[in-house]
Formats: sequence, structure tokens, C-alpha cells
Amino acid sequence: MKSMQDIFKSEEPTEEAIKKMLATCDESAEYIKDGMIYCRKCNEPRRKWMSVFGAYVHVTCSCMIAERDRKEAEQKKQDRLARIMEYRNAGFQDRELQKCRFDHDDNKSKKASDMCRNYARRFEDFKKAGKGLILFGGVGTGKTFLASCIANELIDNGVPCLVTNFARIINTLQGMYEGKQNYLDSLNEFDLLVIDDLGIERNTEYVNELVYNIIDARYRSGKPMIITTNLKYSDLHNTDDTSKARIYSRIIEMCLPVLVSGEDRRKTKAQDSRLMDILNV
Ligand SMILES: [Zn+2]
Repeated sequence: MKSMQDIFKSEEPTEEAIKKMLATCDESAEYIKDGMIYCRKCNEPRRKWMSVFGAYVHVTCSCMIAERDRKEAEQKKQDRLARIMEYRNAGFQDRELQKCRFDHDDNKSKKASDMCRNYARRFEDFKKAGKGLILFGGVGTGKTFLASCIANELIDNGVPCLVTNFARIINTLQGMYEGKQNYLDSLNEFDLLVIDDLGIERNTEYVNELVYNIIDARYRSGKPMIITTNLKYSDLHNTDDTSKARIYSRIIEMCLPVLVSGEDRRKTKAQDSRLMDILNV
């Protein structure tokens, strides 16, 4: 006994159905041969008789599939580039810093450059651990440059980063009547927050309180932060100012020290040794 499928399969298209189908031939891309429409490019059939429906349907040939895949890949690439551009524009309030690239590094502080490259390269490890960097060094040693290089490299890889400073954050907050908390929360939407030039903001109780809140919120988000500063490593450890002391102790906990130039790099806490090893590869 024939199965239902066999019965359907045996049903041939009528001459009228074939004629109707052949009339749909798109001559620019298809041709007709032996009562069937074929693709001009790959010579595969472009229609199929479906006895279940009693009609011909369009079928996708190999070159159409390849073209669709190519278009999808192209679209994905465009979307990715657009997203990266968005990240870069959102991430750098100072447009000049968008140009900072490891390729342009003069390697004057080679050790620090290598550590920063390693940080960018192994960002996933540091992100998981919630560990950032604090870049020490005098004025003009290239701390901002290196921190921006990290951000640019991560943005290339689709990681949202923000490069800013406390003075700018505080100015923005002071100009706001409402939505201050939303603004502060938005800082933690970035996978990496770079705060340039810690220590240049005004030293008032109000500013210190805000700086602590920003750093503490970052700490609680579990996401890493990179800080650059003209302060010395010893300044962070020995301060009589209690409001600064709690800011610095959080920073020391969250950021691995990188000396861009100047004093010796001090030993870090034992639990950071694995991550320090990655930086020092
Ligand atoms: Zn084809």
C-alpha cells in the first residue's frame, strides 16, 4: 500500500501549472530549461512542485544562500562598527584622547606600557576580579595616554569604556537639578571607568564626599576602574585627612599599582599576585 506521502509525490503538476510557473521566470537571474526555471549563476532549480499544495514554490539556490550569508555578515560588521563608534564617542569626553593608541607609544616607560598592554589584552581576567589600575607618575609622563590606549583598545573589542575625571563629573552633577543618582548610576554601565588626574579636584568636604560615593558605587558594582594621578604611592598610604584616607583605601583595594615613572613600585597584597603576574608577563 502506498503511503500518503507517496501518493502526493506521484501527483504531477498539470500543464497549466507548469505554464503558470514558467511565466514567473525572472530572465535577469533565471532561465528556462525542460519545463523548469534555473538560476543563471549556480544552475540549480529555482522552483519546486509541492504536490501537497498543488503549486510551485520558490526555492533558495546555493548562490542565494551564500549572498544572504554575506549580507548578514556585512550587516553584523556594520552594526559592530557603529556600536564601536558610539562607544568611542560616548566614552571620551575629550575627543583628542580617542587618538591614543599603543602603536603611537614612544615606550619611554616601557615597563608601564607593557603592563597596560597586558591589562587590555587580558581584560576579562581583571574584569572578573573587579581589578583596575592606578597609574602613578609626574606631570607629562604619559599616564593619561596609556589609560586612554587601554580604553581605545577595549572599545575596539566592543567593551564600553568611559574616560573622564572627577572635576568633570562634579561639574555635571552641580549643573543638575534632578537625576543626579541616575547620572551616577550611568557611570557604572561602562565595563571600564577611567578617572584621569585624581587629586586635582578641589579639596572640600563636599567634593571628597562625592568622590568617595563615586568610588564606593564603582566598588559595589564589582567593575574595574583605572585611575591616573600625580600623587605618590606613599601619599595614598599616609594621609592624616580621614575623608581622603577612606577614598584612598578603596582605591588601593580596587587598583593594582603601575608606576609610569618616578618612585619604586611597592609590593602589593598577596591576593593580587596572580593578577600582578599577568600584568608583568
Ligand atoms: Zn543560484
